[in-house]
Amino acid sequence: FAPWTDPTQKPLIRFQGVTKRFGDFTAVDNIDLDIYTREFFALLGPSGCGKTTLMRMLAGFETPTEGTILLDGQDMAPVPPNKRSTNMMFQSYALFPHLSVRDNIAFGLKREGKPKDEIHARVEEMLRLVQLQKFAARKPHQISGGQRQRVALARSLAKAPKLLLLDEPLGALDKKLREETQFELMDIQEKTGTTFVIVTHDQEEAMTVASRVAVMDAGQLKQVATPPQIYENPNSVYVADFIGEVTIIEGTVRKDGEVYAMDWAEGQPPIRIRSALDLTDGSRGYVAVRPEKVEIHMQKPEDDNVLRGKIIDIGYLGNLSTYHVELANGQIIRAQNFNTERSTRQTFTWEDEVWVNFTTACGVLLES
Ligand code: ATP
Repeated sequence: FAPWTDPTQKPLIRFQGVTKRFGDFTAVDNIDLDIYTREFFALLGPSGCGKTTLMRMLAGFETPTEGTILLDGQDMAPVPPNKRSTNMMFQSYALFPHLSVRDNIAFGLKREGKPKDEIHARVEEMLRLVQLQKFAARKPHQISGGQRQRVALARSLAKAPKLLLLDEPLGALDKKLREETQFELMDIQEKTGTTFVIVTHDQEEAMTVASRVAVMDAGQLKQVATPPQIYENPNSVYVADFIGEVTIIEGTVRKDGEVYAMDWAEGQPPIRIRSALDLTDGSRGYVAVRPEKVEIHMQKPEDDNVLRGKIIDIGYLGNLSTYHVELANGQIIRAQNFNTERSTRQTFTWEDEVWVNFTTACGVLLES
């Protein structure tokens, strides 16, 4: 399911040249972005990058200084928040403490004056969806944090919005519960077919749940792509560095047949990398290599990109070990080995003089 690759699909949401200024500070800077029906879309970026402001404009809590936001082709500017077919779930959940789980979920439907049996049926359906049938009569303080989060989700979905906005929805949960809840969220999103837009600063969370991710920096979109595209093919040093672990090596590039050769340290062989970029000889380049693509050897292998170094740090994480290897010029490269039972890989120790190796296809060449 990849509607963004199908030119006949119309986006559910379209941002056109959207800017938001607070005084002379630009929080969101001229953003164009399409989000499609049934997507689970993540806005990802560090604190202050403007992701919440972008979401609040979608909900109608903020007005763009410039530009247009379309929902289903309709300009949202004159439409107040409560008349938009969107709903927002906040980090604090904002449940009513004196109401039961059932009445919390029913709240919005009752306020709309829906018939009683219709409300009853919808609330039961929502309780089933989030698997809280047994807890329907409890008050929010009588259930766990994860369950409260599910009540908030059920309440947000009860009115069947076209679009659900989730602002750091799992921020209050501990790591383990957070990971479980990510899968529940994905499951619920798929079952209801509602478009979800989530704001998060947690890159693992965005990569886990989202069909596409927008990486933001200082009010701008740096890259919008699927999680594998963002990880394997970041379009900038910023994105490569923000997502996952990476080593960035800087140098001067020149074309060398099919690949680019990058001189990165005096007296060292150049790093050879395939790239679709069109760089002129002599320009600065950055090679980004993920740690799991870097192999460590005691014997020098016959290959491109075989660099001499010394192991200076080892981190044992159970399922994998990470190594920091110091190369020429003090450049540090990270390598990662999975600790599988049948792993035939050697284990290394501090101060080992080793060869590290990655192939011409294992790194990404970036412009500054
Ligand atoms: P966080 O993860 O910390 O919430 P964010 O990426 O969601 O960060 P925003 O809340 O969108 O960032 O804020 C972007 C910038 O705009 C910040 O520098 C913030 O201080 C500023 N900002 C947000 N709202 C206002 C406001 N009402 N008045 C003035 N400045 C604001």
